[in-house]
Amino acid sequence: MKRDDCIFCKIANGDVPSKTLFEDERFRVILDLAPATRGHALILPKEHAADLFELPEEIASGALVVAKKVAAKMSEKLHCDGLNLVQNNGEAAGQTVAHFHIHMIPRYRDDGQQINWIPGGSTEEGLEAVKREITG
Ligand code: AMP
Ligand code: ZN
Repeated sequence: MKRDDCIFCKIANGDVPSKTLFEDERFRVILDLAPATRGHALILPKEHAADLFELPEEIASGALVVAKKVAAKMSEKLHCDGLNLVQNNGEAAGQTVAHFHIHMIPRYRDDGQQINWIPGGSTEEGLEAVKREITG
């Protein structure tokens, strides 16, 4: 279902124009309006899901197949040196638009971008405890 109050539903379904790189029955891939690098794109499912938690499994798997197709094009046409896939869920994780999307960020040597986290420390006991919490 698409939501009338969701900008990405409107874009994905063609009700609002976008720079579309790829489209099929389930997805539209568009250029991000505030690109981190040249070619920064967003994979949008046409059906509304707020985030990964709400996303149907078949859309989740299909999205990665779309990423692979578009990544090949980016590599061939933009000659990028690398590519980040970034996918934010929830405000705490930096999500600003509550319609699932995957960022495709082509990377170029010396592009000056940073897509990073601060590495933490770990102990055997700490890792074991969190493993048990998640899997138990
Ligand atoms: P996130 O912070 O992961 O929710 O990413 C939202 C992304 O959507 C940002 O990179 C925005 O620049 C981008 N964005 C927001 N509105 C539009 C729009 N109308 N068309 C294209 N990109 C958009
Ligand atoms: Zn939506």
